[in-house]
Amino acid sequence: MSADGAVITTETKPLVDSFGRRITYLRLSVTDRCDLRCNYCMTEDAVFAPKANILTLEELGAVANAFIARGVRKVRLTGGEPLARRNILALIDALGARVRSGDIDELTVTTNATQLARFAEPLREAGVKRLNISLDTLDREKFAAIARRDALDRVLAGIDAAIGAGLKVKINTVALKDRNIDEIPSLIEWAHGKGMDLTLIEVMPLGEVEEDRIDQFASLTDVRRNLSERWTLEDISDRTGGPARYVRVKETGGRVGFITPLTGNFCDGCNRVRVTCSGELYMCLGQQRRVDLKGALRSGGPAALSSALDEAMRLKPLGHDFEISKRGDGVRVPRFMSATGG
Ligand code: SAM
Ligand code: SF4
Repeated sequence: MSADGAVITTETKPLVDSFGRRITYLRLSVTDRCDLRCNYCMTEDAVFAPKANILTLEELGAVANAFIARGVRKVRLTGGEPLARRNILALIDALGARVRSGDIDELTVTTNATQLARFAEPLREAGVKRLNISLDTLDREKFAAIARRDALDRVLAGIDAAIGAGLKVKINTVALKDRNIDEIPSLIEWAHGKGMDLTLIEVMPLGEVEEDRIDQFASLTDVRRNLSERWTLEDISDRTGGPARYVRVKETGGRVGFITPLTGNFCDGCNRVRVTCSGELYMCLGQQRRVDLKGALRSGGPAALSSALDEAMRLKPLGHDFEISKRGDGVRVPRFMSATGG
């Protein structure tokens, strides 16, 4: 029995890993497909999971419910491109109801925004309040080179639609050597001018892409040093429940986050796990061990699913061991970010 008198069963006891970290955040990938082909995320000829392996929307809901029963308070839908999954609003509505009933604190979505112009209003109506939107450049040609699709106009229209619908938007920008490093200050000014925070992310060696990772990787230590020569960066303790460390730019009034999986200590307070659209539960973005939730769900139902979560807690590692220090380091984790869910 818990302190408030609720009965604790194996299907409701909190998820705590073997290092004592409580898991309260689920990142659920609803598809591994995408309408873009960002060159650090996937290859142009990316091979996607066969349809039979993909969880149905009902199964994705059942997986989310199993985690919520075990104390998860925040769910992020991701992918691939989550808004590209057919009928995704059905799942978003169902999870939004869990926010409205107080079962979870938040439902969020990470999107490339290409289809956001038509999704912004329905997302808000379903109970989504915040979005993470990925954008690495404001230059149309550079965008087309990085994303391998000419979609910047649609992305910008999607961002404006989200702001117009009253959604709180955070921009995620991957720092890319020789590609967008020079543009980072103007991206920050643009984002802050629209009332959006911007988080910078170091490229991680997830999956083998066409280029060597060392030709993509830029250290955020250097980026931060350059920003601090231009602006006054005030350290702030704001944490949004993730690994980002934030500063406030005194001159713009906005916040910049730094996610430094390669150069910073990242894993100590990890509170999250990731489930792929094929129902594989990854306890760490940077490790290969996984637990098969699809098999548990399809063969044993909710009880088997809950036991699978216990197994995952035993297996969750202390941290990742990413490294990009020499040519060839890019294949340490064979899965693409689009497969695991960013
Ligand atoms: N399609 C959606 C989007 O782009 O926002 C959601 C999925 S995407 C995989 C999630 C995030 O992962 C994006 O911000 C993307 O830039 C980031 N990402 C993809 N591959 C990455 C990599 N190898 N290293 C670091 N970040 C990566
Ligand atoms: Fe698609 Fe997002 Fe990967 Fe770009 S980063 S290819 S938008 S899944």
